[in-house]
Amino acid sequence: MQPPSRPGLQQTVRLAIDNQTGELVPAEALLAMPEDEFSGLRREAMEARVDRRKGGQAVRYLCAICKFPLYLSRRITGAQNRWFVHDRKSHDCPWYEGNRLAPEQIKALVYRGQQEGREHRELKEYIAHWLGQDPLVSDVNCEQTTFSEVVKGEWRRPDVKCLYGRVKLVFEIQLSYTFLSDVIARDAFYRREKTFVIWVFSKFNRSRAAVTDEAFFNRRNLFVIDADARRHTGERSALTFSGYHQVPTLDDNWQWRDTWQFMPIGMADLKLPSDTRRPYFFDYEARRKQIETERIEASRAEQARQWAAGIAAYREAALRYFASDHGEEERRALVAVVDELEGHTAWHPGFEGLRESRFYGYHGVLAVLLSIQTGKPVSYSPQLSVFQVIEAGLRTASRVGLHAYAIPYLWAYKTYRPAMPEKQRKWLIDYARKIKLSFANGESVYRRDTSFDEAIEVLFPALGEHLSSPFGTDLMDDDGDR
Ligand SMILES: [Zn+2]
Repeated sequence: MQPPSRPGLQQTVRLAIDNQTGELVPAEALLAMPEDEFSGLRREAMEARVDRRKGGQAVRYLCAICKFPLYLSRRITGAQNRWFVHDRKSHDCPWYEGNRLAPEQIKALVYRGQQEGREHRELKEYIAHWLGQDPLVSDVNCEQTTFSEVVKGEWRRPDVKCLYGRVKLVFEIQLSYTFLSDVIARDAFYRREKTFVIWVFSKFNRSRAAVTDEAFFNRRNLFVIDADARRHTGERSALTFSGYHQVPTLDDNWQWRDTWQFMPIGMADLKLPSDTRRPYFFDYEARRKQIETERIEASRAEQARQWAAGIAAYREAALRYFASDHGEEERRALVAVVDELEGHTAWHPGFEGLRESRFYGYHGVLAVLLSIQTGKPVSYSPQLSVFQVIEAGLRTASRVGLHAYAIPYLWAYKTYRPAMPEKQRKWLIDYARKIKLSFANGESVYRRDTSFDEAIEVLFPALGEHLSSPFGTDLMDDDGDR
């Protein structure tokens, strides 16, 4: 039923019940009646009124809200007007001529008036019926709020309420548009009452404002009882909703796209958050975060893979360069690999050493370290032993000192343990002692050049821990025993 629009001046009673036919009579129908018909009805209503005065039971019209008898009144002078009048004082009735309603009460009445149509009642009873079949549900109640309760401010009775396990759960049906302010007020009320509330729609209509609002308020989850839901309910013999929800997807350009999907949702699928008291079944934000995290992790893994491939390419290009006896073309290919690495997110200036000839060039740092690691001369004459390569390397000077790489080479020896005769092994151990002693004496001839540390570490990760030590640098303790 729709609330009558544009009532006449005196028409406080908007709707009457015809006690003979049971039909509803909107007040404005009185205005459209031919004069003789209206006069006839007015006379019947008056006769019933007189009968009641004499102690009789006759009633022609009833107020649709308070169900008190009505009679008909009219004014002919000026603008024509006809209206229903309560025959008794009815202070609980919002349409009683002696009452003045607050705007909030009128809004609540309009809301309830729009709600309680046939479809609304059917849906209420449907939900209540199936809740009654659920062994986990008790205390199902779907009594309608009476209008006198509305007038007294007790209009917040839900359409259906129940106990789900030990949880208070109510259902509010939204067939017509509910003012957003009402939804917010009712949500707040249920939160205070520690009661979970599910707003139920009879169809999914994304263009409807109420659907949009509700989707926004409830993690883009909507509970719909449509034909699909009823079919699933029947098949399962358990209350089942069409659970409409938005699903986020992320395209290759990091643009989000949301698509509506639906799935059957039973009571067991409900998640019951105690903060919002709004049950839901699909956590949109959680899904979105998960997609983001997966994408970031995949991207990181891909970056790491590309970086590792780039480092491997550098090593191979270096070996080709050495095998070509330091050919210019191979040298350029090696530097080109570094240019590639520079475009990578993992690149930092410490890796610049990779393109310095003192690092990769003839008898440079890279050649000695590769020889130690592989156990055979690289870039050096194949007639030499690894020991001879190391021995030559220990004498390499840089602007830092006379034996600028002695310490890293001995660390590499310690780490990779290339095979060599015992005598040479001991010689290297003695050399290491000599270095320590020299530092202890305050000398700096073995001060190491740290400018290639990052380049060394990225190619020889096993040396990382040694390289991070201050030994052989200005940061070393005075006793040189680090
Ligand atoms: Zn009334």
